[in-house]
Amino acid sequence: MVSTAASATVSPAADLVAPVRSSEEFLIFGAPLICDEEEREILSSLRSGWLGTGPKVAQLEREFRDYKEAPYAVAVNSCTAALHLSMLAAGIGPGDEVITTALTFCATVNTIIHAGARPVLADVDPATFNIDPQDVAAKITSRTKAIVPVHFAGRACDMDALAAIAQQHGLMIIEDCAHAVETTYKGRQAGTFGTFGCFSFYVTKNMTTGEGGMILTTDEKHADRLKILALHGMSKDAWRRFSDDGYKHYYVVECGYKYNMMDIQAAIGIHQLRRIEKNWERRQEIWATYQNEFAGLPIGLPAQPDDGTRHAYHLYTVLIDPERTNLTRDQFIADMTTENIGVGVHYQSIPVHPYYQERFGWRPEDNPYSFRIGQQTVSLPLSPKLTDRDVADVVRAVYKVLHR
Ligand SMILES: *Cc1c(COP(=O)(O)O)cnc(C)c1O
Repeated sequence: MVSTAASATVSPAADLVAPVRSSEEFLIFGAPLICDEEEREILSSLRSGWLGTGPKVAQLEREFRDYKEAPYAVAVNSCTAALHLSMLAAGIGPGDEVITTALTFCATVNTIIHAGARPVLADVDPATFNIDPQDVAAKITSRTKAIVPVHFAGRACDMDALAAIAQQHGLMIIEDCAHAVETTYKGRQAGTFGTFGCFSFYVTKNMTTGEGGMILTTDEKHADRLKILALHGMSKDAWRRFSDDGYKHYYVVECGYKYNMMDIQAAIGIHQLRRIEKNWERRQEIWATYQNEFAGLPIGLPAQPDDGTRHAYHLYTVLIDPERTNLTRDQFIADMTTENIGVGVHYQSIPVHPYYQERFGWRPEDNPYSFRIGQQTVSLPLSPKLTDRDVADVVRAVYKVLHR
């Protein structure tokens, strides 16, 4: 437990005038923890001249696959690319429907559209913020091809229920694991339930390569197709272009994309992965500190991790209900920013965005739990980079803002 003594330190008048932190020390939300090992590995890539896709990408694929106890891993340059290629490799296209959650990042929905299919939104369980299997079942039609669950904040979705629905209706599962590198469900790794599991190594995620992503998949045929699609549609042998055994012709076998990861990115990822458990422990500690410190406040706290699962502690989200706090979420954000604490919103529900309203006629009220959470949710800093003092500052700022 991090020692914060929040209530004890919030007191005299000076405290009300001066912000909890100075503006020079603004606490950036989602700051990555980058160490000497990453710097040295990048330098070695630069000095070797091998900047693009090469041995370090292959190494990261192997090590990530082993960490996740998965049969195949394909590195790409984002989780968005991972989701898009997974849709294509799953055979999803025009005329198909894909069910996903209304409480997610836009990329989850956009990649369904990129594949030519129609996204269909299910609402979330208000306690877990995860896709509600009952609403998934209610949204299935004869056109439904796949379900894309998102393990929100690192909390495992109800995979037994989703797998049963998928099996009953012959649907594929593509897991959006952007928050869920360390997540397990009943002893099994998130990302290995679906035919495809898609991971993000964006700057703010649990491990980063700057930009980057990974796809886990169940069989070699899918892995081969993903590799072809990720590199212009050039035949699998084209990847040998990246070895040094002389020139080889390549052949384009379909119209692919430019989604490959670079060795410079993998150089960061290799060391991020080595520190994944240590960073997880630190985030678990901070998460538990917040739960403890905020227990008596009139705000909604995340549900404790479910038995038989491992939470990845990607986000720590609180709900600001103006009926309980006399404060809107947006005012809370503004006040935390005044205290020089950076916060995030994960997420406004998908149907609030004009593009989807115009294209699909979606209304926020159609997914009421996602809509309400989207209006009330705020994510507090949870980076392993936070010092005990940083955590204490976040706690003090939350108390100060709520008691103003
Ligand atoms: C970050 C994120 C993505 C997209 O990841 P990128 O690597 O930035 O493409 C997709 N889904 C969710 C839930 C995310 O949080």
